[in-house]
Amino acid sequence: MKKIYMDYSATTPVKKEVLDEMIPYFTEHFGNASSAHSYGREVKSALTKARGQVANLINAKENEIYFTAGGTESDNWAIQGVAFSLKEKGNHIITSKIEHHGVLHICEYLEKHHGFEVTYLDVDSEGRIKLDELENAVTDKTILITIMFANNEIGTIQPIKEIGEIAKKHNILFHTDAVQAAGNIDIDVKELNIDLMSMSSHKIYGPKGIGALYIKTGVKLHSFIHGGAQERRRRAGTENIPAIVGYGKAAEIAKNTMDEHIERLTKLRTKLIEGIMENIPYTRVNGSIENRLPGNVNFSFEFIEGEGILLMLDMLGISASSGSACTSGSLDPSHVLMAIGLPHEIAHGSLRLSIGDFTTEEDIDYIIEKLPGVIEKLRSMSPLYLNKIKEQN
Ligand SMILES: *Cc1c(COP(=O)(O)O)cnc(C)c1O
Repeated sequence: MKKIYMDYSATTPVKKEVLDEMIPYFTEHFGNASSAHSYGREVKSALTKARGQVANLINAKENEIYFTAGGTESDNWAIQGVAFSLKEKGNHIITSKIEHHGVLHICEYLEKHHGFEVTYLDVDSEGRIKLDELENAVTDKTILITIMFANNEIGTIQPIKEIGEIAKKHNILFHTDAVQAAGNIDIDVKELNIDLMSMSSHKIYGPKGIGALYIKTGVKLHSFIHGGAQERRRRAGTENIPAIVGYGKAAEIAKNTMDEHIERLTKLRTKLIEGIMENIPYTRVNGSIENRLPGNVNFSFEFIEGEGILLMLDMLGISASSGSACTSGSLDPSHVLMAIGLPHEIAHGSLRLSIGDFTTEEDIDYIIEKLPGVIEKLRSMSPLYLNKIKEQN
């Protein structure tokens, strides 16, 4: 059976060139980077090289990149680290309602257990925060603004430059979760006034369990993992060298192929959106068309459940993801789809198809061919849909 992966926003396969770079660091070059002998020096230079590759992806300096165990740790570190470090100055944090749980849950924890106050900004129907609401939310107690670069469900890219300007004007630190963005679109942290930025390797064809936090020179924050002197005493624990080497390579490839990556995926995405909108009635595209990650497509199909769509697609060999959160054990649809104002029943019928570097034109054709039948079949079993048809006749 055909097997088509359309869930690149959940994770990506490791590219062959990335794996090839990693392998020797499991066996021949297995040293501990802190060791003073040749085994240590060997891996230390690999570590430095990878740090440079990740820095280069976002126009940071090499010594502004700190390796972590992934996007979630970077989010937790940035937010808790700044909160604890600046708690004498203030206890107020501003974020948005559509953040990844790696941001939302550390914010809730700080509210519940450490006396912080968090403002969760609304977003418009495309998923963008409103800059005047951000500025109005700032108080003399605000110490951090944390707004994601691009959303993992609906692909919406935030007005990051403008947010950075507001943060700078009010002398507030600005953190952004760029896990979906860093490696998929151009980012220049200097131009954008970003103080802290979370990134992850497995969303850009590197291995899982490795990521980075960009910390601008001069920004102070408490450490999150305490122990040895690794990562310039800011993130303890023996470095995962094979993963770091792989992440560095993945970042280098992303940087070198950025323009063609964006052009190719945007073309495939447009074809997919047009093909579906032409062939399936009662459908809407969620998120922004203009400010959107190249590989993200998110639809809502009225009258049916996302879970049903996923199951039927899976039987056709297509792996995708839905905005209805039954998978996570809750009956509520995703907080992101709720925040852009979708009614419950429409949010439940959502489908995310995220494409990437191994997606082909034939894959897109296959989805456009199969999806209308899937939706029709599910609707033919939906009392809501049958009522709608009856009303019309
Ligand atoms: C995947 C993702 C994360 C989590 O990153 P991990 O490396 O899987 O911990 C955080 N934020 C966003 C926006 C993501 O898409």
